[in-house]
Amino acid sequence: MSDKSYFEHGELVGVLTTQPLDRVLDYKAPEGGCHLGAFVEVPLGPRKVIGVIWGPGAGGWDPAKTRSVSRVLDVAPMREEMRAFLTKAAAYTLTPMPAMLRLATRSPGLGDPPSMQKVYRLGDGAPDRVTPAREKVLAALEDFGGLAFTLKELAEQAGVGPSVVKGLVKQGVVFEQDTPRDTPFPRLDPDLPSKELTPDQVSAVAALSGTNGYATTLLKGVTGSGKTEVYLEAVAACLKRGQQALVLLPEIALTAEFLTRVEARFGARPAEWHSGVTMTERRRVWKMIGEGNAQLVVGARSALFLPYQNLGLVVVDEEHDSSYKQEDGVLYNARDMAVLRASLCGAKVVLASATPSLESWANAQAGKYTKVELTSRFGEAQMPVMRAIDMRAEDLPSSRWVSPTLQREIQARLEKGEQSLIFLNRRGYAPVTLCRACGAQIGCDDCDARMVEHRFLKRLMCHQCGETKPMPTVCPSCEVEGKLAPVGPGVERMAEEARALFPDARIEVLSSDLYGSARALKAHIEAIAAGAADIIIGTQLVAKGHNFPLLTLVGVIDADLGLQGSDLRAAERTFQLMRQVAGRAGRAEKPGTALLQTFQPEHPVIHAILSGDEDGFWKAEAAEREHAGVPPYGRMAGIVLSGPEVGPVFDLGNHLARHDAPLRAIGAQVFGPAPAPIARVRGRHRVRLLVKAPKGAPLQGALAKWVAGLKIPNAIRLSIDIDPQSFY
Ligand code: ADP
Ligand code: ZN
Repeated sequence: MSDKSYFEHGELVGVLTTQPLDRVLDYKAPEGGCHLGAFVEVPLGPRKVIGVIWGPGAGGWDPAKTRSVSRVLDVAPMREEMRAFLTKAAAYTLTPMPAMLRLATRSPGLGDPPSMQKVYRLGDGAPDRVTPAREKVLAALEDFGGLAFTLKELAEQAGVGPSVVKGLVKQGVVFEQDTPRDTPFPRLDPDLPSKELTPDQVSAVAALSGTNGYATTLLKGVTGSGKTEVYLEAVAACLKRGQQALVLLPEIALTAEFLTRVEARFGARPAEWHSGVTMTERRRVWKMIGEGNAQLVVGARSALFLPYQNLGLVVVDEEHDSSYKQEDGVLYNARDMAVLRASLCGAKVVLASATPSLESWANAQAGKYTKVELTSRFGEAQMPVMRAIDMRAEDLPSSRWVSPTLQREIQARLEKGEQSLIFLNRRGYAPVTLCRACGAQIGCDDCDARMVEHRFLKRLMCHQCGETKPMPTVCPSCEVEGKLAPVGPGVERMAEEARALFPDARIEVLSSDLYGSARALKAHIEAIAAGAADIIIGTQLVAKGHNFPLLTLVGVIDADLGLQGSDLRAAERTFQLMRQVAGRAGRAEKPGTALLQTFQPEHPVIHAILSGDEDGFWKAEAAEREHAGVPPYGRMAGIVLSGPEVGPVFDLGNHLARHDAPLRAIGAQVFGPAPAPIARVRGRHRVRLLVKAPKGAPLQGALAKWVAGLKIPNAIRLSIDIDPQSFY
């Protein structure tokens, strides 16, 4: 990157655009000049596109033919640390720079001029006639201490029609004004009193806010130990230094509860950034962060790419959660990118989890991260008692999944007025629909996957591509009628069973697909937490962080479910998920119990979950991975080739496997090509190769060389996933 930070009118500048081109383009600086990092609009062919001044131009073109930057956008230039972040993140994930820049410019209307809107405040005049409707408007304005409202907001708040407001404007009682549409976020006050922390929590806070500059801390603590309280104090310390903070959450449904806690601690709500936020609000968030007028952002992984001016802290809550890995488009892990982002701008990172990822655990063992532990639950709350239900000894008819033991335990909770959770990590009614005449299973037309029955939607759905179709009445294979039958349980089927077993209980299903909007889901979770259900039937959605204070029993229908795959993280995931789910029980004063239905109670992972011997589990798991040379003790990349015809896809895979000299040069090995576990998705055949390299090997450089000369036919797509999390 150059030292030059300003370009005079007419000087050559290099502009990185969001268009899929493999280089930075030369333009002339516009009238008035431009700063390095400035967001600009440039002509490209017949269009205007968004870009960033990336450095001086390369030259070598006919100056007369070089076009000028059209205009500089009305937003703060991209900071050098952000340009460095995008460059390094692109190199790490082998992503082209334009795609990286797209992540950093995801603000609707970025190029628009500042837009204005009419707002309404209390004026000085008195109305000629006081009516009840008019009084309501004045009361609303007074209640909010002179804050400005839009017409719609004010009318709604007062419960009157807009004409009432307009009438008051005419008389000068209410004052109408044009203001910029994007308004600053209310100030958060870190000096408001915090909760009184326990000695453990106090030392954790001290450890998180200690040294100056970049540091990553793994904040480990059982569910309910007060990790959120602790990192809120780290946020407070960051705000007191006058810096901005970011809190990443793995699930939008969790933000509602967190926002309330922020408001209680700092007196106002932070900015939100995730798929449930309106376009107008997104534009405001993006702008206000760039102007330093938003101190705290709560968001999903893409919030890492917002234009912070002074980022001091990034919290990654539930850092082990696999949803931090983006699985399409740019394949990045937000946890790792948070660490990169922070290290480049001297910010702190807090990775919070009750069950850290093996990667973070290993980094803490190696001294790269500091580890801070909260060992007990806050207040009276105790860790739940955990026990296995040995399904080999339970007497259960077929197509029933709640064992007599679990049934008795739920019944006991019902009698005491306490909540139970039946946990099954499977959406829909039944994972398989089988023809009892010919044995065929109904599959997706476009994917190598079975269709899942969703009785609530009255359709079959493919969980790979989202395609749905009505439930057929005759078997698509043998055309026999009335023989199609569901096999195996999903949460909807569990609800049916629970209704039969507990006819008087209030039963609610919590599954991400049953709610039209994130907002509806949030509202539902809150109602359930407040006691609107006796039995909750849930997928992994409920395992993530939400408080259910009345819940004292968790019954896991199939604790063996996650152990079957060949995924290298199967054991780790099961361990984390089971511990997380169990942690839902007994969060308040009442002790909790977690019961795991399993056919293999002696399996080492089940054993580790039940005994709570976490260090033992991590050590055994670490030893195994070290022995196999896989992450975090070795490096890995997954290559997926896909195309409409299987032959050419395999040919390309074989070609790659044969020409592996650049990889051998760094001591890496190539495995495959082999059909991917899901060998066809959306009509495209999928072939995988796996590259394993020693820790510390320059893997990205070698991969880039490996695929550089490759002639990829148009119909075939190649994607490279560094540190793959899923192997489907
Ligand atoms: P975690 O994030 O580890 O699951 P939380 O921070 O959500 O834990 O704390 C669990 C519950 O205990 C919350 O309701 C929280 O408000 C409460 N709590 C934790 N620490 C304190 C404290 N020092 N004073 C009062 N309440 C606390
Ligand atoms: Zn499909």
